[in-house]
Amino acid sequence: MLTGLMMDRPLSIPDVIEYAADVHPDRRVVSSAVEGGIHSYTYAQARDRISQLAHGLGKLGVQPGDRVATLAWNGYRHLELYYAISGIGAVCHTINPRLFPDQIAWIVNHAQDGILFFDLTFLPLVKALRPRLPKGLRLVLMTDRAHCPDDCDALIYEELLSGHPTRFDWPTLPENTASSLCYTSGTTGDPKGALYSHRSSLMHAFSIILGAPQSFGRTQRILPVVPLFHVNAWGLPFSAPLSGTELVFPGPRLDGASLFDLMQSEGVTAAWGVPTVWAGLIEEMRKRGKKPDALHSLLIGGSAVAPAMIRALETEFGITVLHGWGMTEMSPVGTVTRPDPSQDIEGRIATSIPQGKRIFGIDMKIVDDAGVRQPHDGVAFGELLVRGPAVISGYYNDDAATAKAFDDEGWFRTGDVAKISAAGDLVIVDRTKDLIKSGGEWISSIELENSASSHPSVTIAAAIAVPHPKWDERPLVAVVLKPGAMVTQSEILDHMAKTMAKWQLPDEIAFVEAIPMTATGKVSKKDLREQLKSHFVG
Ligand code: AMP
Repeated sequence: MLTGLMMDRPLSIPDVIEYAADVHPDRRVVSSAVEGGIHSYTYAQARDRISQLAHGLGKLGVQPGDRVATLAWNGYRHLELYYAISGIGAVCHTINPRLFPDQIAWIVNHAQDGILFFDLTFLPLVKALRPRLPKGLRLVLMTDRAHCPDDCDALIYEELLSGHPTRFDWPTLPENTASSLCYTSGTTGDPKGALYSHRSSLMHAFSIILGAPQSFGRTQRILPVVPLFHVNAWGLPFSAPLSGTELVFPGPRLDGASLFDLMQSEGVTAAWGVPTVWAGLIEEMRKRGKKPDALHSLLIGGSAVAPAMIRALETEFGITVLHGWGMTEMSPVGTVTRPDPSQDIEGRIATSIPQGKRIFGIDMKIVDDAGVRQPHDGVAFGELLVRGPAVISGYYNDDAATAKAFDDEGWFRTGDVAKISAAGDLVIVDRTKDLIKSGGEWISSIELENSASSHPSVTIAAAIAVPHPKWDERPLVAVVLKPGAMVTQSEILDHMAKTMAKWQLPDEIAFVEAIPMTATGKVSKKDLREQLKSHFVG
């Protein structure tokens, strides 16, 4: 082998903000501030404050490799923390505030965080958690002195920056240096940490710009509803500055009306988030009889997007849907749909129902129960495994979880059951543990949910398996009806019979007020099973 004669300059996160300040200095970052009102500044001004923060962190004694935690919404200060912490070689540990307090305390202790930065909103949470947090943990409230309550003894964010130079001499770090840490909110067992690096973050950022080019560029303003506190807001804090895309952060207000108003007043062109958020926006757009004027596309992922949602967005509002699939362990994007501009609406809808094609850097294989590779023919299905430069190679300080997560060839087991077409389109059939096995035949809970939620009276549907004496398991589908809708079980079953075989149809539809959700906005099947326990007997 002959080694190339090229410079070995490492990929580095602070280079991204320095690049944006240099090449896209006037492009803006707009935030709906936690204190109220709108904050707006340019990438050049962001770089200045990030440099000041890096000096401030140094003064606090933060060392390379230290874990610095955040409990914060999507806003400019959180973005600054991303760059300053990783830029000095420390690890930005984002924590999901929607987790149970016990889990948050467990995570802070497992990560051995030295400092916790938190938004004003989370002051009561931090106070309640304090006795369970590590003794030496230092607290920084992400606001200015004027907004700090008298009884709060935390350091003040703005004072940490104040008076420091607006340039920082970033250290040259090996590109595999850890940059950020995010724990999966697994529904079973303790949370597991994905420890990202400068290299993996940049490789992922490049790949999502290539995979979803509609969202990026100097004419675009993107709104990440997907939180900075979970999986790096799907990479947007890096890919937006890289591509000169303006960022619009929604802060704590994520209801349909607040999102609509922010999108309208800030001219948002694209937004990324999980399906539950878009259900709220669709309702609001229906109320107002229009979409936010500049909004042209939504990237939806994190759980399967019901065809009914894609159809509503495309046909009622002319909004293009990009459907994405991924995992915390994959930084997180793995696949995204590629609608073709020449397609008509029906063509675009059909393209967006599967989970899409792999982004550059992700390799995918499906295997049967014996680990034998299955063809990519759109028929054979099995467990999906992945590998790539933005996929974890192990869990943070968790040998037991790491030992189970990879096959003999080093591929990561996703725990999803999938098929892949000859054209490379991924279809997620289910989570391994959510697949329903009835009389020896598999039934996909996602197919059941898509079918039930396409009924015009249904807002959301979720399917689980219930034990059955003859068939081992049978499906049970829980539905939430639209306000004021009147519909019977047999009407929903008749509707589902148009797209599913008779033996796949549920024996019962459970009408419920609400479907339980996880901290990341996905249906919590574990809680749903608990909620519907009474349907299991008899
Ligand atoms: P998390 O690591 O919390 O982001 O969860 C990852 C899991 O969410 C995946 O393994 C899938 O089971 C599920 N998921 C994410 N995106 C999709 C999607 N577009 N369709 C179906 N399931 C999805």
